[in-house]
Amino acid sequence: MKAVVKTNRTRGLELIEIPEPKLGPRDVLIKVHVASICGTDVHIDDWTNWAQQRFTPPHTIGHEFAGYVEEVGKEVTFVKVGERVSAESHISCGYCYQCKNGDREICRKSKLLGVDCDGTFAEYLSLPEHVLWKDDPHIPDKWASIQEPFGNAVDTVMSEDISSKTVLILGAGPIGLFAVGIAKACGASLIIVSDPNDYRLDIGKKMGANIAANPKKTDILKLVLEATGGNGVDVVLEFSGNTLALDQGLKSLTPGGRISILGIYETPVNIDLNKEVIFKKIRIYGITGRKIFSTWYKTSRFLSSGLVDPSPVITHTFSLEEYEKGMQLMRDGKCGKVILKLFQ
Ligand code: NAD
Ligand code: ZN
Repeated sequence: MKAVVKTNRTRGLELIEIPEPKLGPRDVLIKVHVASICGTDVHIDDWTNWAQQRFTPPHTIGHEFAGYVEEVGKEVTFVKVGERVSAESHISCGYCYQCKNGDREICRKSKLLGVDCDGTFAEYLSLPEHVLWKDDPHIPDKWASIQEPFGNAVDTVMSEDISSKTVLILGAGPIGLFAVGIAKACGASLIIVSDPNDYRLDIGKKMGANIAANPKKTDILKLVLEATGGNGVDVVLEFSGNTLALDQGLKSLTPGGRISILGIYETPVNIDLNKEVIFKKIRIYGITGRKIFSTWYKTSRFLSSGLVDPSPVITHTFSLEEYEKGMQLMRDGKCGKVILKLFQ
């Protein structure tokens, strides 16, 4: 079968023929129809410092997908041949302190699909049945493949009630853009989105942002204060992984507000805790992955009910052979979510 594989500890990926995966008794063989590209895949392609420390070649990359069950192991009961599935990308152990406490997203022995084991940029994929999610039949394939990053946005937006609140969203990458739609659907009264990329700001407006601002052209703190009668926003959602944006976010937050942070920073971050957090009585939430599987239920309902239409964010579709075109668009920031379509 065809697969996009990181074969060596150097920059680049290869589209090569590899054997189809073998199935254990509790594994499921899936024919991948649609896979979407995540920033992580670009990091692995580019062989960044993070990838060099985290990734051991050779592996097929990719962790976002929708596909059809082709074959099931002897002991599988959850899915049947022909059903459409996606999967939680964090393959948790099920036995550690965190797993036993119902926090499988922070499993201490978690394996990441397409990083620690063969991923989704391949014609076939084998996964343990316990990570599978049955896709709602009302959700098209492309939408089903973005449920994983959409779930990141769901948990960031919904770490506290957001209805009627004023919100600043930092970073309009695919996940920040999904967050705009989710915050809108949850009844946020004002959504300001900030990103230096004007192409992505336009998508932010389509997703329901009231104000879309470029921090290279606009003073974000001043804009927030003007838009909130001098109060600052109730909620900041951080999706940029940029320390300047984080600083703007903390300063833009009204005392007593909350900030939820999904963005990942390249270096340790300095925060004036006394001034920006303690005396302002700010609540900070670190967000990782998704709640397994409660976030998947929320995600599926947002998409199947029409509460959130993710179409404006899904900007490009390529074949598996064209994966490098998608990677390049992501490097250039000239896209929202890029999808690879493997089968019709
Ligand atoms: P992305 O890289 O596509 O988006 C980040 C956006 O931030 C870009 O559009 C960029 O232009 C923008 N940005 C850069 N500097 C900015 C600034 N000063 N102000 C405002 N915006 C700025 O990433 P994504 O796929 O949308 O993911 C969002 C973030 O979440 C990334 O940092 C990613 O690494 C992280 N992430 C975390 C988890 C987790 O489990 N914690 C999971 C997935 C992604
Ligand atoms: Zn565990």
